[in-house]
Amino acid sequence: MKFVVAVDCEGVACGVGSPGASLNSSRNLEFAKLQATREADAAVRGLFAAGAEQVIVWDNHGGSLNLNYDLLDERCDIALGVGFEHRFPGMDESYDGVALVGYHAMDNTVDGVMCHTFSSAAYQWIKINGREVGEMAIDAAVAGERGVPVIFASSDDKGTAEAECFFPGVVTVTTKQGMGWNCAVSKHPKRVVNEIYETIQNAVTKRNAIKPFAFSSPLTMEVRYKRLESAQSASRGFSGAERVDPYTVRRTLQSIQDYY
Ligand SMILES: [Zn+2]
Repeated sequence: MKFVVAVDCEGVACGVGSPGASLNSSRNLEFAKLQATREADAAVRGLFAAGAEQVIVWDNHGGSLNLNYDLLDERCDIALGVGFEHRFPGMDESYDGVALVGYHAMDNTVDGVMCHTFSSAAYQWIKINGREVGEMAIDAAVAGERGVPVIFASSDDKGTAEAECFFPGVVTVTTKQGMGWNCAVSKHPKRVVNEIYETIQNAVTKRNAIKPFAFSSPLTMEVRYKRLESAQSASRGFSGAERVDPYTVRRTLQSIQDYY
């Protein structure tokens, strides 16, 4: 069995950022990166305990150089850095499942901690085929095109609810109760590590009941921008793009990969 642990940083225990700043310019960043490392390591150890033969940890927040690689279980491989041709570097159709660790709720979520879809500065929301989607669904669809299901997700309570809504049967760990963009009541980070190690083993047991996630093709993607001029340039920058209203641009994609 082979798995990918995809690791973001906003959804980890005791990650909240700080007002007026992205996580990347918050004094919470160093702790969030350390905790993302611990949570990824717990996922790796749990997957090997459940019988995995290969696990790739994919460091994907921001510039994809976040984790302390020395602290990860040495049986895993690590995908890091930017410039890959596709998301989920190294993963092909032979993989058995994806675990999303440290992920966050989509844009437009009440009290989701640092909730956004790719850019909180640029977008108000993204819809695919009429449904608002976040990074969890979009990444799951990329994995789904290779036939690989999301079997596990850890995030704040808004993020785990979103995962359960999009991926029926997914196994989740809630790291914290989101109470606003920059505030949460978090489980103790060490307790979350233990919970991920134990719970991800159930996800391996249940993986055959979970279908790969897919959007029906062709995909209609609508993006609502925060600024008029961004919508204007997007509507002129992509062939076939259509301006739905001053802030919103619609495109048709054959595959979710065309988004990148
Ligand atoms: Zn992130």
